[in-house]
Amino acid sequence: MISYEEAKKLVLENVVILGKEKISLDKAWGRVAALPVKSKIAVPPFRNSAVDGYAVRSQDTAESQGIVRLKLLAEQPAGEYFRKKLGKGQTLKVMTGAPVPAGADAVVPREEVEERDGWIVIRREIKKGENVREAGEDVQKGQKIIAPGTLLRTPHLGLLAACGCHQVTVYRKPRVAVLITGNELCQPGQPLKPGKIYDSNSTTLKALLRSSGVEIVSLRLVKDNLKTLMAAMKKASEKSDLIITSGGVSVGDYDLVKEAAQKLGAKQIFWKVAQKPAKPLAFYALKKGRRTVWIFGLPGNPGAVMISFEEYVRPFIKKISGRSDFLPEEIEARLTQPVKKKRGRLNFLRVKLNKSDQGWLATPCGPQESGIISSLTKTEGLALIPAEADFLEAGSPVKVHLVEW
Ligand code: AMP
Ligand code: MG
Repeated sequence: MISYEEAKKLVLENVVILGKEKISLDKAWGRVAALPVKSKIAVPPFRNSAVDGYAVRSQDTAESQGIVRLKLLAEQPAGEYFRKKLGKGQTLKVMTGAPVPAGADAVVPREEVEERDGWIVIRREIKKGENVREAGEDVQKGQKIIAPGTLLRTPHLGLLAACGCHQVTVYRKPRVAVLITGNELCQPGQPLKPGKIYDSNSTTLKALLRSSGVEIVSLRLVKDNLKTLMAAMKKASEKSDLIITSGGVSVGDYDLVKEAAQKLGAKQIFWKVAQKPAKPLAFYALKKGRRTVWIFGLPGNPGAVMISFEEYVRPFIKKISGRSDFLPEEIEARLTQPVKKKRGRLNFLRVKLNKSDQGWLATPCGPQESGIISSLTKTEGLALIPAEADFLEAGSPVKVHLVEW
């Protein structure tokens, strides 16, 4: 049995980032940038008005001690370009986003101006730069706008579009195959026969994977039978980067995932981690020519599945996807209750989080056994109770990993 720290290191040091592909911006939400992007243009590309109003020379209003009349030359909607330079005593009516003409250095909002018969009246001094958006004030030409490893979200896509990019180079999505083992499983929606339970791991794994930005290439239910499991695993390895199995990885008579993986030639990187839940967690590398297919053997208990996914599988997926921020977000919190446990295994304690004057407070949120699902609905974080601890008093500081499920 290895420690949590050692297991996590083995998972993350084995990562080989997947290849790159160029895709259209429309498909890029949730993908990870693989190359830096520099803007080819300044944004905004030209000096323009921040309001509907009148472009003026601020010095004209400074010289007039309060009231100034200016000659209105023309009107300029957004999208058009006024070629003449504004001279002394002149103004140009501009709409929001319209270029501010040469000569002008400020825009007076329409609400502050009286316009009549081709003239306008302004009743205050206008300062240089008022309501003018300078060229490049958002992004300068040549500025780096996206760093490789960035998860592309809506604002990143908006920024790329504003800079005129219609494509972006991203890392390929990891392809994931899921194998759900267990003769006792029955699908939700079907009548429950004696001795059977509903399969919840298929549902939770699909949801966890969807929020990880992978392509789920297959999800199969497999009986606890070595031949069937080997055949399913072999098939899954043909088109995936990662296989996730659920159940059958412990020491029971029908726990056949380890044997199946090894018989197919997978190398065991580890099996069994000093942690609770998910002690029987296993990790393998299966060579397929020049490719490696990674296999996570997750225990069958629903709590163990979700917790080991957050602690190991999600960081692994983020890292092979090229993400630079692949670790769970970690905060320091204080326990609001004492915690008792056996020495020897790190415990992932399901907690709710509250902010106080002294920082974050972590409160255990119900039963913690690995088969329990209900308390997971209230879980906001997993407090790491160290392996060597057997008692932590209320107020003890703990590290908490925020869950993304
Ligand atoms: P195993 O790791 O296969 O020994 O399973 C451990 C526990 O998790 C057993 O009580 C199983 O019945 C339960 N279990 C296994 N697979 C699932 C599943 N897909 N959904 C819900 N519970 C499961
Ligand atoms: Mg089983």
